[in-house]
Amino acid sequence: MRKGLQGLVLTFGLAMLSFSCFVDRDRVVEDPFVGEPAARTGVGQLANQLLSADRFTRLEVEVVYMRGFRPTNQMMTEMVSFLEDYTHKPDGVIFREREIPAGGQQSYTVQELLDLEKEHRQRYNERNIMTVFLLVVDGYFSRDEEETFALGAAYQSSSMVLFGRRIAENSGILRRPGREMLETTVVLHELGHLMGLVNNGTDMVEDHEDEENEAHCDNSSCLMYWAVETNRVFGMMETSIPQLDQKCRDDIRANGGR
Ligand SMILES: [Zn+2]
Ligand SMILES: [Zn+2]
Repeated sequence: MRKGLQGLVLTFGLAMLSFSCFVDRDRVVEDPFVGEPAARTGVGQLANQLLSADRFTRLEVEVVYMRGFRPTNQMMTEMVSFLEDYTHKPDGVIFREREIPAGGQQSYTVQELLDLEKEHRQRYNERNIMTVFLLVVDGYFSRDEEETFALGAAYQSSSMVLFGRRIAENSGILRRPGREMLETTVVLHELGHLMGLVNNGTDMVEDHEDEENEAHCDNSSCLMYWAVETNRVFGMMETSIPQLDQKCRDDIRANGGR
């Protein structure tokens, strides 16, 4: 019955383009928040949809890791509680995990990450379900510099990557955090970016963006401090995972989060 009506709606829609609510209600206009096109938008672009229950009431996290780089159970548990703490998802937060073959590359460019996602991501936003994709690769980031290297990154509106080899090489040894703590810290920071922090998809209640490192918090003990996703983090996480400070929490709440 719906199908039979579509032609009618379309004809009407064309004739009545100025009646935007009419067109919206009958979905002649494409929903900008579902499917692959929504996932191809920039970091922070789905912050409100991730934080609030207005559009999506359930959250699914798809974790895809290269052979030998499965994230720890602790990371996955902490990720769920972080999402439960800061987002409104009355129908739950769930995880799916899957192993993919090793890539075997020394490093990965953004384009290569996008290609891997295209090949391996199975879940995109649909109906009441918001999806987040986490890729764990067996190499480094191609943009690493000599002094500073990335442990992880958020690279699209619902996509994040962990550079598994960097994390493995820099944890569980002298003067380095344990692997669980390191990967958890990095993944929560990247989730913060998907939530639009700082001033990158979620407006600031009070100004606290780091002038020299955009999209980051100026509080050096906050989870959203720029150093958290790089090797500079080692000096700042002695015994625990950095938390979001009050200003970051205020932003999240003001954009529909908890
Ligand atoms: Zn960051
Ligand atoms: Zn902060």
